[in-house]
Amino acid sequence: MKILSINTGSSSLKFSLFEMNNEEVIASGLFERIGLDGVYTIKYQGQKIKEEVELKNHTDAVKILLEKLISLEIIKSLDEIDGVGHRLVHGKDKYASSVIITDEVVNDLLAFKDFAPLHNPANVLGIEAFKEVLPNVLMVGVFDTAFHQTMEKETYLYPVPYEWYTKYGVRKYGFHGTSHRYITETITKELGRKDLKIISCHIGNGGSITAVKDGKCVDTSMGFTPLAGIMMGTRSGDVDPSIIPYVMEQEGLNASEVVNDLNKKSGLLGLSGKSSDMRDVISLINEGDEQAKLAFNKYVRCVTDYIAKYYVLLEGADVICFTAGVGENSIPVRKAVCENLRCLGIKIDEDKNNIMGESAKISSDDSSCLVYVIPTDEELMIARDTLFFLHQNG
Ligand code: ADP
Repeated sequence: MKILSINTGSSSLKFSLFEMNNEEVIASGLFERIGLDGVYTIKYQGQKIKEEVELKNHTDAVKILLEKLISLEIIKSLDEIDGVGHRLVHGKDKYASSVIITDEVVNDLLAFKDFAPLHNPANVLGIEAFKEVLPNVLMVGVFDTAFHQTMEKETYLYPVPYEWYTKYGVRKYGFHGTSHRYITETITKELGRKDLKIISCHIGNGGSITAVKDGKCVDTSMGFTPLAGIMMGTRSGDVDPSIIPYVMEQEGLNASEVVNDLNKKSGLLGLSGKSSDMRDVISLINEGDEQAKLAFNKYVRCVTDYIAKYYVLLEGADVICFTAGVGENSIPVRKAVCENLRCLGIKIDEDKNNIMGESAKISSDDSSCLVYVIPTDEELMIARDTLFFLHQNG
């Protein structure tokens, strides 16, 4: 069984082709600059090809992708593709799990576009392109927001006028749900138990932390949008909203411009003044840059604060897991966060923590809670969900 896992942006289309018998990626790549000039890269069998090619729209990208899969002999015919899974961003409170993509799903994605203006319309472009080129293949949608639908009302509501929720859907939705679900399922399998309290820390360029109990999301750090929660590469995370009108007045900006600065010029980039990338921040610290040190310390503080909050919410934790770019690779971030948590009896083993991009248990034997590093795999999760519906459809 072969399944394509697709992530469409407004001018890009990322794919992984899985052989589901062993869950192996047999080809992956990216089509970029769609609607501009166009370029694609495809990786397969240890090789990588890159070519500039005209990509007028997403349909062109899908057509070329499928032609290349055949001409590079990755597949023999299109019949080998059993299903296509799409990463979808915002399903509001209607979608609590993955779905077979129907016209209703497409209409909902467009109806919810104000909630994810950059992503939902782009997701539809990807769906329409595959519908045109592979009309008879089952397509499944996997929402970023779905895993968080188990939050209770008192958790997802903001203490604001209630009509903002009833009239306009103002509430916490949460994001990175597919990644948090992957981490939850991987740990559940690893430990052979479902009754676990897990704090899943997806910290990459974007970042969110989720509290999970018995396999279900109880709370998550992102909110109405991905701007909320922990400090990130370029996003501020939680701030006092009164900052917005104050800066508007001081700088002569409108609200969208200030929110844009909170999304794109804040976080590690804002505080260090130099880079949003944790690798650069750490190099700068090693060169004696005080601003970079401040940015690092604030980042670690924000991550620690959310873990501590969720530790109390869950009344303890069985597992804390680090994932995504920073979580998988940054030895100093994991070390500093866990040192901040030592009053809870959480301890990591420095030798075990000395890993990048691999799965491992890094807690020491006398730690009160297990600490893991697990590379996330949203593409695989999307392929697995697609396989589930293929089996259901017989
Ligand atoms: P995204 O949120 O865009 O999916 P990723 O999860 O890929 O991001 O994370 C990217 C970030 O991971 C980079 O911006 C960088 O800060 C961080 N990162 C990657 N490798 C390392 C490393 N070796 N050490 C520290 N940080 C790293």
